[in-house]
Amino acid sequence: MVSEQGITTPLVGRFAPSPTGPLHFGSLVAALGSYLLAKQAGGDWLLRVEDLDPPRVVVGSADAILKLLELCGFEWDGEVIYQSQRFSRYQQVLQQLRKRELVFDCSCSRRELIASAPHSGDDGPIYPGTCRRGPVGQRAERSLRLQVPDEEIFCQDLIFGTLRQNLQREVGDFVLQRADGLFAYQLAVVVDDIDSGVNQVVRGADLLSSTPRQVYLYQCLQQSRPDYYHLPLAVGVDGQKLSKRHGKSAIITPENRCQALWAAFCFLGQQPPGELVGASGSEVLDWGLRHFDVARVKTAECLAPDFERKSEVL
Ligand code: GLU
Repeated sequence: MVSEQGITTPLVGRFAPSPTGPLHFGSLVAALGSYLLAKQAGGDWLLRVEDLDPPRVVVGSADAILKLLELCGFEWDGEVIYQSQRFSRYQQVLQQLRKRELVFDCSCSRRELIASAPHSGDDGPIYPGTCRRGPVGQRAERSLRLQVPDEEIFCQDLIFGTLRQNLQREVGDFVLQRADGLFAYQLAVVVDDIDSGVNQVVRGADLLSSTPRQVYLYQCLQQSRPDYYHLPLAVGVDGQKLSKRHGKSAIITPENRCQALWAAFCFLGQQPPGELVGASGSEVLDWGLRHFDVARVKTAECLAPDFERKSEVL
């Protein structure tokens, strides 16, 4: 990978599933896209389990996801990273930000914010800066927020084009550590990617709106940001991002994994040859390494295949 200064560094990509349930089609698409883009460039592909939020973690799902990825023929580089083992590192980074006075304690509860914040953004109420000069409320539990500037953050997504967001007006100072002590996804993802040398982030388009916040965090931590590729969102028949409510229809199983991989290529605008239907995962991945063309990936969200109705998949 050649930086703006012309320095060549090894490319490092990653797949970062949240173990909140079984592997679904949307995650398989992210695994596939990130794997192919890293490996086609001769880079490393890391695997990180985002078990940041204990109440949301489904016991056994991390192992099940890893096994299924292996069965599909994916091979990751190095040891799997678990966010649950990195809490002291997140704390250390927060202390650095605190020393530089970039973060502040906030006493506002969600209910107070909903009542007081004038507008709502993609992720709920836009924080109006209430506690910037010190906590105004009596609540003992405090969240920690990053103070954001009133200016546009720009970055280029290599599939979706230019992203721009005025963080203060469209999001507000955002939480890095919740009042219950849990670390926020925005913090963990950036710190982990920096620490593992990740310079290529490929993931679902549901995270497009988080990207300017993460780019700003890179700036605050004085690190260069990765290249971003957001992949089209896989939605259910109701047009919503895949989730538990869609039942088993888009869940990957050992039985449907080869079909699912084939369908994931089609979803990404590729045209795997018919002979590959029913081929092993590694054969399909090998084909992908030779033929995957990111220019064919479209931005429009697409319906996920329904694996419970086989005829629809192929
Ligand atoms: N853990 C997130 C998910 O499963 C992905 C985070 C990321 O790729 O930045 O949707």
